[in-house]
Amino acid sequence: TAPGAQAIQIDGLRVSFGDFVAIPQLTFIARYGEVHGVIGPNGAGKTTMLDVITGKTRPKAGTVRLDGKVDLLGMDEPAIALAGVGRKFQKPSVFEALSVRENLETALRLKPRSILAEIRSWADPRRGTRVAEVLEEIGLSDLADTPAGILAHGQKQWLEIGMLLMQRPKLLMLDEPVAGMTEEETRHTADLVRRLRSPERAVLVIEHDMAFVEEIADRVTVLHEGNPIFEGRMADARQDPLVRQVYLGR
Ligand code: ADP
Repeated sequence: TAPGAQAIQIDGLRVSFGDFVAIPQLTFIARYGEVHGVIGPNGAGKTTMLDVITGKTRPKAGTVRLDGKVDLLGMDEPAIALAGVGRKFQKPSVFEALSVRENLETALRLKPRSILAEIRSWADPRRGTRVAEVLEEIGLSDLADTPAGILAHGQKQWLEIGMLLMQRPKLLMLDEPVAGMTEEETRHTADLVRRLRSPERAVLVIEHDMAFVEEIADRVTVLHEGNPIFEGRMADARQDPLVRQVYLGR
């Protein structure tokens, strides 16, 4: 992928719930190789935007393009996941009775695909290599055989990020990844998210912890009432009068 190419491009997006317009007219781009923070006060429309990308919420108008071509709006949730969109929700959901390694192996099987592709993947010697790579990437190699149920909260979150990485998403979306984490876990997560940068991947992070966003994000979009009121570096967002007024200056 060309550096800076568009992983996801949203145009003219309009979302309403009954008479309430949550997103009036949104344009948004996330690029390969970047960690993009999406911030804004409660009710700004962050979750709604992610729900549209994953196919959970249907907009009234607009297009959502993955990789500059496919319009995701014509697809259902499993098809969108298969096309390369991975999302991690706030609460970790790992298979507690399975080991860390087994959780990663299982993640590959959760990706919907044909039986034939399934059998091929299990016979593929590279499968084990991929598990080892991801274990390394999330920093859990030493705990590969530990049951996921006894991991600390932060370790479960990293495992879940690893489960998404197994599927090689083009767009990886993380919903408040450091909520409820200790300071040390937050630091480890910042390292991990920074390492997620790849020419084949865009990372989108919704987060309330501003210091964390500043540490990890190459670019931030500030949403307010469904409108992007700022896009650029987090350090500049802090100085922006409008951003301060609606958000940071509370
Ligand atoms: P954020 O994630 O930035 O806190 P949300 O995307 O959750 O904001 O919400 C944006 C706005 O849309 C809020 O005013 C919220 O109350 C409203 N909203 C979200 N989902 C629904 C829904 N299913 N029905 C009605 N209103 C909703």
